[in-house]
Amino acid sequence: MRTTVGIIGAGPAGLLLARLLHRAGVESVVLESRDRDYVEHRQRAGILEQGTVDVLRAAGAGDRMDREGLPHDGIELRFARRRHRVDFPALTGGRSVMVYAQTEVCKDLIALQLEEGGPLLFGAEALAVEDADTERPRIRFRHEGREDVLECEYVVGCDGFWGVSRTAVPSGVSRVFERTYPFSWLGILADVAPSHDELVYARHERGFALLSMRSPSVSRLYLQVPAGTDAGEWSDERIWEELERRFETADDWALARGPITSKSVTPMRSYVHEPMRHGRLFLAGDAAHIVPPTGAKGLNLAVGDVVTFARALAHQRETGSRERLDAYSETCLRRVWQAERFSYEMTSMLHRAPDATPFDERIQLARLARLTASRAAETDLAHGYTGFPLE
Ligand SMILES: Cc1cc2nc3c(=O)[nH]c(=O)nc-3n(C[C@H](O)[C@H](O)[C@H](O)COP(=O)(O)OP(=O)(O)OC[C@H]3O[C@@H](n4cnc5c(N)ncnc54)[C@H](O)[C@@H]3O)c2cc1C
Repeated sequence: MRTTVGIIGAGPAGLLLARLLHRAGVESVVLESRDRDYVEHRQRAGILEQGTVDVLRAAGAGDRMDREGLPHDGIELRFARRRHRVDFPALTGGRSVMVYAQTEVCKDLIALQLEEGGPLLFGAEALAVEDADTERPRIRFRHEGREDVLECEYVVGCDGFWGVSRTAVPSGVSRVFERTYPFSWLGILADVAPSHDELVYARHERGFALLSMRSPSVSRLYLQVPAGTDAGEWSDERIWEELERRFETADDWALARGPITSKSVTPMRSYVHEPMRHGRLFLAGDAAHIVPPTGAKGLNLAVGDVVTFARALAHQRETGSRERLDAYSETCLRRVWQAERFSYEMTSMLHRAPDATPFDERIQLARLARLTASRAAETDLAHGYTGFPLE
């Protein structure tokens, strides 16, 4: 098998890249190890930055998002039983975000790819990327019990944090920067209308809590829990009681309860692999970097990476110059590190570290108080949340 761009992984990064390349008239093949149902139902991100919304629309993949997504103009910060709204458009000159689940983004992109695009093979596991530093990189993969080879001009590793593509970068070249946090998120989906019409980020002495949503009738809620927590340790009653305590306010706001349909625990990690390119292998999305979900940046960074690659390839095809492809890693990393910084700051401002001293707690509260008192501090948060621009 032969193609121009071999894409490993059909998460948001791989699927969007295939779509962008198809629109630009470039051939690609997507290899995805799992089946379609699994990819379409894996519960993860839900916040799309303004730039991501714009990219999906321009790629012809925004129709259902525009019909069913929930545009959000702000978030609420909650601490010391007080509530403070951050108004994004007022602080950023009109930017906002969209609540539209990653599962739905993937469903839309898969449907388009199967209808109009190049091959998208489910159950096709990439085993290795070979000859990445030559003009003819190859992906060795297994599909329907048979081993095969995909010969490419370029390989883009969109295979997430646990994929194989990153291992093709020689260890002497790779540098890893990481931090693991001593806490995780226990996330639930509940069949109940969200108790607030925007996301609520709550800092509490007992730990962080987040109120989010997937649709007008489905709530997504998270609790900070110790690293290594088993979701089975948390009964539904215990979850609702803890959420009520952490979201408590001085006014009459109340959290609506409903049947919990899913519980899962997500570890919190910051991770960057440098460089994001080795020869003709390009890493994109979670294959190259992870952020703790507090800043809602993971999916949006994945989108930024593949847009950068697609533009660089278009430039090469139009002008013959490889300059932008060669600069891919540096270009992406500038934005990645801003998102890492933002996610780290949101995480450390809102979570309770197990070894936090009374001094640390006062500093945390002072940071939150500064946000509510200073338009400059609030503007910085609003710009970070609605997204760093693509270069
Ligand atoms: C609980 C949670 C909440 C989150 N919330 C947010 C949020 O609000 N906003 C946000 O922006 N981000 C959020 N994220 C992060 C976001 O989900 C990820 O950053 C995003 O999925 C990255 O997309 P990706 O395509 O790079 O990788 P993935 O979505 O991980 O996709 C990689 C794909 O590659 C496939 N694959 C792996 N290995 C192979 C192989 N060897 N061969 C073939 N295929 C392979 C996998 O099966 C998978 O389908 C959240 C994550 C979690 C876990």
